[in-house]
Amino acid sequence: METLDYLVIGGGSGGVASARRARRYGAKVALVERAELGGTCVNRGCVPKKIQWNAGDLAERLTDLADYGILVGGEVTLDHARLHTGNRAHVRKLNQIYAGHLASEGVDVIPGTARFAAPGVVAIGDKQLTAQHILIATGSRPVVPAVPGAELGITSDDWFELDAVPKRLLVLGGGYIAVELAGIARALGGVVTLACRGPLPLSRFDDLVRRTLADELIQRGVAFVPNWLTASLERTPDGLVARGPDGTTFGLFDAVLWATGRRPNIDELGLETIGAQLNLDGTIAVDPYQATSVPNTYAIGDVTARPQLTPVAIAAGRRLADRLFGGQPEACVDYDAIPTVIFSHPPIGVVGLTEEQARAQYGDAVRVYVTRFTNLYHAVTARKSVTAMKLVVAGEEERILGIHTVGQGADELIQGFAVAVKMGALKADLDRTMAIHPTAAEELVTLH
Ligand SMILES: Cc1cc2nc3c(=O)[nH]c(=O)nc-3n(C[C@H](O)[C@H](O)[C@H](O)COP(=O)(O)OP(=O)(O)OC[C@H]3O[C@@H](n4cnc5c(N)ncnc54)[C@H](O)[C@@H]3O)c2cc1C
Repeated sequence: METLDYLVIGGGSGGVASARRARRYGAKVALVERAELGGTCVNRGCVPKKIQWNAGDLAERLTDLADYGILVGGEVTLDHARLHTGNRAHVRKLNQIYAGHLASEGVDVIPGTARFAAPGVVAIGDKQLTAQHILIATGSRPVVPAVPGAELGITSDDWFELDAVPKRLLVLGGGYIAVELAGIARALGGVVTLACRGPLPLSRFDDLVRRTLADELIQRGVAFVPNWLTASLERTPDGLVARGPDGTTFGLFDAVLWATGRRPNIDELGLETIGAQLNLDGTIAVDPYQATSVPNTYAIGDVTARPQLTPVAIAAGRRLADRLFGGQPEACVDYDAIPTVIFSHPPIGVVGLTEEQARAQYGDAVRVYVTRFTNLYHAVTARKSVTAMKLVVAGEEERILGIHTVGQGADELIQGFAVAVKMGALKADLDRTMAIHPTAAEELVTLH
């Protein structure tokens, strides 16, 4: 039986990053992947989604062209198949780039599904490997509720295989995947209904962002159904219908997309064999250093209870390799104030605590600064879209606890502000910073 320094299970964002970093320190590394390299982000997540989002953004702006005096002759049509082909081609290119990096750096890639045969021993088919350290980076997959007719719906995995946006689409769910895909479908010409369990989408986000996004989706023509629970899906000759617990139905749809959460990929790992402790939601329990309850066995990324974001999985993978093989015994991820962007239409950028979270922690010491405006971009366009921003601060010194933005450019501006928050910036620091005019971002340094 071959013994390695490091065996990584899962060739997605976190696994690949960790394997490559460990190899750089000279470790003997193998990585097991059962599907395409790159994992969710490359194949069924961030990358194809962002390309679709770009397409939606361009489609929305088409109506603005004439207002800017740019007259494009002829009828405008969307060639969905071309978009799909271009998108898939880019993903295939990334798969190859990943394979190329791993091969040239000397990480042994083993295709197949890994399963623990015993602590420290992993089986891939009839092959068994032992390693000094084993990393579980198996990610997560979409969950579909167990209701009659659930199989009539699709998930985000299926979404990226479609070569056209369904004409009449129902999106079920209120998380970021639901609002992103609903926004893309609408911008690309679909008739879209978004139904979520709560009164507003994005339950863990600041109220300002949630309300503004719901208004913007409605303004763009998305039919929004709050407080909805699906009891069943049914097929009729004219299309799909969703039924609620009280018998209320609505439809008809060509496709129904379940965006109702994700579950960690642990079922095939044989974790019971090694007795790894799980959290209540089924994710693998880890300490701040990504160590599981089993010696020399670690977990990172979506299979743990950490924020489900690619940079988070990558950072955890690299820090772990730094610690195990790079002589940095204290290396670990700082999970505080992780910025995030939702590629909705319009986009959302946030970092830090919501107003509600801040008040729960700091009470009356919290103060908020809010602004709402129409971006100068819309000064000459008939189409309008709102930008809203909130700064959450606490104490006499007004330390910044959170920044919440929704509107054109929010996706690109938040990264820089996240640096300031991470450095412990005060509101006075923003005030001292000269504005860049005319931009949307300048509003955050001129709040009063
Ligand atoms: C629609 C969508 C959009 C997203 N958009 C964004 C975004 O814009 N920005 C962002 O930061 N994040 C985004 N994410 C989240 C991001 O994709 C994940 O957080 C990230 O991919 C997690 O990385 P990971 O390494 O933990 O898992 P993954 O990337 O999922 O990789 C896990 C890998 O393990 C493999 N595997 C599983 N079990 C086994 C086994 N037993 N043996 C061998 N291999 C196995 C899988 O095939 C997979 O390739 C999005 C996700 C989705 C679904």
